[in-house]
Amino acid sequence: MNLVEAQIFIALHPAVAAVCAGAVGACVGSFLNVCIHRLPKEESIVTPASRCACGQPIPWWLNIPLFGWLALRGKARCCGAAISVRYPVVELLTALLFAASILTLPPAKAAVAAVFLPLLIVLAGCDLDDMLVPDAPNLALVALGLIFSILLPSLHGETSASLEVVNRLHAAGDSLVGIAVGTALVWWIRIIGEIVMGQEAMGEADIILCAGVGAFCGWQGALFCLFGGAVIGVLLKFPMVIAVFTKKEADSHVPFVPSMAIAGAIWFFRGPELVQAWHLWVNG
Ligand SMILES: [Zn+2]
Repeated sequence: MNLVEAQIFIALHPAVAAVCAGAVGACVGSFLNVCIHRLPKEESIVTPASRCACGQPIPWWLNIPLFGWLALRGKARCCGAAISVRYPVVELLTALLFAASILTLPPAKAAVAAVFLPLLIVLAGCDLDDMLVPDAPNLALVALGLIFSILLPSLHGETSASLEVVNRLHAAGDSLVGIAVGTALVWWIRIIGEIVMGQEAMGEADIILCAGVGAFCGWQGALFCLFGGAVIGVLLKFPMVIAVFTKKEADSHVPFVPSMAIAGAIWFFRGPELVQAWHLWVNG
């Protein structure tokens, strides 16, 4: 099946395409859970097979995404320990994003989404779980963004030149500018934050993430990743602020990586439309 045939199949059978993509997404999500659990601890993501916290191996049929957790009702079969709700949430989120990609994006871009979005989920998950963002998936985001831009110039809307190689060069340029803008933006904010607030406002992980979104989405994407991410961060932080007042300990950690990841994903799905809506709004 080539890309055109795939597109026709998706148009004719959107429900079938969505269910298939969702099933693949749930399996990918299951693997992302392993990455989120093991990468910050610098453990291998390939071996050993999944084990319960008590050391018992988990049978394969309980490893089936979503159903495993539901069948167990969130409690380990061996020792009764609670299994974090994070596992089914990551699986469901990945499934929904895969289904949304295949339904709303051109097939080639949906294939790129199958790499871009899982990396964002791993980074956000590691930050939420351990407040420790591993470098490997973050740097992979930057490198893969550049590679996919060259393979698929339409990612940056570069399709107008009659020579394919010119489109690829333009797209590589767009990607590199995105990396540069993403890096520079967060780097400057970090310096200004240090001067104004006397503390580190943003970490190195934020710089690499913003550069990675720039690599996939160009400089506008990097811009939206930072400023859209800041707005989303404030919105997400708000319930946490309330929680802090009602509970005992103050949590000063701002979930900036997850917020930037959400902004990056929004831009990947609907970036150009957002610019258009913005122009319409500004011009009355
Ligand atoms: Zn156990």
